[in-house]
Amino acid sequence: MFYLTEQFFSIQGEGKYAGTPSYFLRTGGCNLSCPGFGAKYQREGVDMLGCDTYFAVDSCFSSQWEKVEDAEELIDHLSEQFDAIGYLPHMVITGGEPLLYYKDAVFYRVISWLVEQGILITFETNGTVEIDFDAYPAYQETVFSLSIKLSNSGELLHKRIKPQAIEQMVRYGKESFFKFTINKQLVETTALKEITTITQPFDHPTIYCMPVGESRETIWYNDQAVFAFCMRHNFNYSDRLHIRVFDTTQGV
Ligand code: SF4
Repeated sequence: MFYLTEQFFSIQGEGKYAGTPSYFLRTGGCNLSCPGFGAKYQREGVDMLGCDTYFAVDSCFSSQWEKVEDAEELIDHLSEQFDAIGYLPHMVITGGEPLLYYKDAVFYRVISWLVEQGILITFETNGTVEIDFDAYPAYQETVFSLSIKLSNSGELLHKRIKPQAIEQMVRYGKESFFKFTINKQLVETTALKEITTITQPFDHPTIYCMPVGESRETIWYNDQAVFAFCMRHNFNYSDRLHIRVFDTTQGV
């Protein structure tokens, strides 16, 4: 059993496959909360800070999440969606942290079916879950967008950086790239040092940097600094197309 918070057909807005028509499955639950990203919401009347997908992170929203207990039911639904779309789109499995469910039988059956269809699958992950690629070989056929959290996430270092988990995904995944979410302040202080420390064990890592921003306003505040930072250090700039176009994250 796993939780889905939403599913929808849209265009990937971030990272290497930005601009690609994609079908999104967003799972519920995360092992981090990232208060440093500053998205405001309320839990039982108390002001909280989280990331732009706090509704898929904080279990206080779980009554709104869909419990997926029957893989075949979801597979039938996806087949109908793909028929309506007219082709097999790129799949983005995101969250929350989708890989918290990587061993779940229902989740793994759905991923295996997608792999069998020859569909390109990208996991958007915080890179903290160590996958057993031998026991769950379908993950060897998937792409990992490694959105490793830096100090601006507000999370403790030992919670957000799991070198072994990152190493396994880079080594055994079909493809992987790093996608760091940074802001103006981090660019001016420790961004380069933090990114270099995480990526230096790897040969020619593909690195994207993306401005912090759960709204157009916060993206506008950070984008030029991140843009210049990428030019200075030969990193790829990633925008957040969905927020730039729709000014929200949910359902687009
Ligand atoms: S790891 Fe990602 S989904 Fe989880 S709280 Fe942090 S930014 Fe949000």
